[in-house]
Amino acid sequence: MSHAVQITDLTKHYVLKGETVKALQGVTFDVPHGDYVAIMGPSGSGKSTLLNLLGCLDRPTSGSFKLGDDDVATMTDDQLSAIRASRIGFVFQSYNLIPQLTVVENIEVPLYYMGRLTANCKQRCRDLAAMVGLGDRLNHRPTELSGGQQQRVAIARSIANDPQFILADEATGNLDSVTTDEIMQMFEKLNQEGRTIIMVTHEDEVSAHAKRVIRLRDGYIQSDERNTDRVIAGLKSDGAPALNDAAVGIGSPENATS
Ligand code: ADP
Repeated sequence: MSHAVQITDLTKHYVLKGETVKALQGVTFDVPHGDYVAIMGPSGSGKSTLLNLLGCLDRPTSGSFKLGDDDVATMTDDQLSAIRASRIGFVFQSYNLIPQLTVVENIEVPLYYMGRLTANCKQRCRDLAAMVGLGDRLNHRPTELSGGQQQRVAIARSIANDPQFILADEATGNLDSVTTDEIMQMFEKLNQEGRTIIMVTHEDEVSAHAKRVIRLRDGYIQSDERNTDRVIAGLKSDGAPALNDAAVGIGSPENATS
C-alpha cells in the first residue's frame, strides 16, 4: 500500500539543564494516502513534539520518518525547508496569515516561495478562494475577516501547493462551535476528495470527524484505532450534502493517489 507518511520507532529527546526529557520514546505508525488522522493525548504526552517532526520543523533523535519514499529524518535544514514548502500544507490554530497581504495573496504565499507563481497558479488561487466561500473577499485583508473566514483562507493556502498531506494544529481552537462545524466540514470535504489529513487536537468533537485516532501518552502510542463513531459533518441523514458543495468543495488534488 502506498503511504503519505511512514514513521518507525521515532524518538525525540531534549536535554534541559543536564536532564534528558524523553518526549517521544519510540513511535511507529503509517498514514496511507487519503487517511484522516487525529492525534490526541494529555498535556505533555508528546503531541507538539510529534507535530514538529511531522512538519519537518525539527529532527528526531532516532528512528525513521518517510514522506512518500524520502527519509526526511536525516535531511539538512535546507532540504527540510524545501519539503515544508512543497509537500506539507499547514493549518494553525492562529491562522498565521500575513496581515499586509490580501486573501488571494495569502493563498499565493506557498507558490511564491517556490517560485511557481505563474498566471495559471494565480488563477488557481482565486479559484481556491472562491471554493472556500471567499470569492467575494479576494482583496480583503485578514483584519477585515472573521476568525472562521481567516481559517478558510489558511485552508485554501494549505492546498495551494497540492501537498502530500495537510498538517493541522488545533485548527478550530480559536473558533466557536458553529464555525468549528463549518471548518470541520471543509476538512471532511478535502478528505473525501482524496487529501490526507493529520490533525492534532484535544477536542473529542473534532477528533470524532477523523477516520482514525492515535492517542499518545508519555511519549508512546497508547492506542491507534479506526473511528467507529465518526461524525460525517457535511451529510444529512439521507446522505445528501447539507451544505452547498460550492461552499466547501476545494477541487481535486492533482497528485492524490488514494
Ligand atoms: P504536548 O504537546 O502533548 O503537551 P510536548 O510535545 O510539548 O507535549 O512535550 C512532551 C514532553 O517534552 C514534555 O515533558 C515537555 O516538557 C518536554 N519538552 C517539549 N519541548 C521541550 C524542549 N524544547 N526542551 C525540553 N523539554 C521539552
